[in-house]
Amino acid sequence: MSIRLRLTLLYSSILAVTLTAFSIVVYLALAYSTQDIMQDTLALEMQRLLETDVQSPGFVKWPDDSLGKSETYWQACDNEGHVVGRTDNLQDHHLPLSGKGLEQVRSGQPVYESTVINNAPLMIYSYPIIQNESVEGYLQVARSTAEQEQALHLLQTSLIGGSIITMMIAVGIGWVIAGAALKPVNQLTRTAQIIKEERNFERRVQHHGPPDEIGQLAVTFNAMLASLQEAYQQVAQALQSQRWFVADASHELRTPLTIMRGNLVLLQRESGIPEEERKAILTDIVEENERMIRLVNDLLTLARTDRSETIEVNDIRLSPLFAEIERQVTGICEDCTFMVSTPPNATAVAERDLLKQVLLILLDNAFKFTPAQGTIKLSAEQQAAHTLIRVQDSGIGIAQQDLPRIFQRFYRSDQARNGSGYGLGLPIAKALIEKQGGQLIVESSTGQGSVFTIILPTASDTIRPESSISTLQFA
Ligand code: ADP
Repeated sequence: MSIRLRLTLLYSSILAVTLTAFSIVVYLALAYSTQDIMQDTLALEMQRLLETDVQSPGFVKWPDDSLGKSETYWQACDNEGHVVGRTDNLQDHHLPLSGKGLEQVRSGQPVYESTVINNAPLMIYSYPIIQNESVEGYLQVARSTAEQEQALHLLQTSLIGGSIITMMIAVGIGWVIAGAALKPVNQLTRTAQIIKEERNFERRVQHHGPPDEIGQLAVTFNAMLASLQEAYQQVAQALQSQRWFVADASHELRTPLTIMRGNLVLLQRESGIPEEERKAILTDIVEENERMIRLVNDLLTLARTDRSETIEVNDIRLSPLFAEIERQVTGICEDCTFMVSTPPNATAVAERDLLKQVLLILLDNAFKFTPAQGTIKLSAEQQAAHTLIRVQDSGIGIAQQDLPRIFQRFYRSDQARNGSGYGLGLPIAKALIEKQGGQLIVESSTGQGSVFTIILPTASDTIRPESSISTLQFA
């Protein structure tokens, strides 16, 4: 059963009970008051007759207006209940008194009784005639109650008819009001159904009513849809990048595999290959194999950074790390100047091996993209809450339009396409730094060289009081 129907039925039942109770009270109040008025009237008539000094039932002088045509009927009976006198307007009828009523009258108590004579309803008032403390008989006065009963019947019909009409109108109005109140809820249901069928999270519930409970439900529902839409887009984007990533990785892996296969087939088919050429082919195979191993390692590193597990970081001293790196890379830089500088006590919160891996990636790029005689600098600057580590080169620089893309997986500039890299170095570096709670940013312009800055947090106990710089400053 729908809520609308249940609400209408509940409201109508309450109204029906209220109307019935009201009708009964009104009817009973009027019935009792009509009866009271009739009893008072009969008692007054009797009083008027008694004022004529009635001695015995056989000698009563009836009021003049009761003879023949009056609506007031009189009768006198002895104490056995035998009629001894009555007015003419009673014709052949006589006014009855029940056995119980007779006993009451005999005990000296007046009695009111209702009866029907000749299809006409009557109220009879029987009053004892007492002489010398004994009941000689009784007098009866009666009047028709047809008019009152007719009025009560009319009232009863009006109340029942009125209640039925009121109920019908109320049920109709209740049905319409419940429908209007539940309309926004139906809209919510319809919107939810459409979203389910179309998988379209851009839809919203249109609610123009006041900000009541339904209004708040609509607002919350729309907010939930916005969150769902965002989450859905994120998942779609993640899936899309995953597809691109798999496609790019397969593409990059296919090149060395194809070269290796070509060379191996050559060695397999041709038996008389000169020694020199055979060695060159094997060197090719080994080089391609190494390229593949590098790529697979890079892919594994990226996959690891995608995992949600946290990395344990420590407060590490930078000068020993820089010295170690300097020893390892000095050989690479034959035609260039490589400078390393760091405050002696500089520290940063990081994972030592991962930070070293990132610095090697950045330095590898700096050497790759800096022509002979250029300068490459590795430096550190300790600030209040951060340590900045910069890898700066005077190389070819990066065009402004390429800057947003260099951290994307497999992105390489046109100049770099024929080189040994796969465009995974910077994405790995960025992901590793972010895993350690830091940031990697770049400033560069074509022909001016590039500056890659790693921003890492500093352990609070390493903050020096004299260092009051609180904002990040870049060279
Ligand atoms: P790869 O591993 O192939 O070098 P990276 O992700 O490290 O790829 O770098 C992506 C691209 O960013 C490079 O192909 C190059 O175009 C640009 N790039 C990175 N570092 C530098 C730099 N120091 N100077 C100029 N261009 C750079």
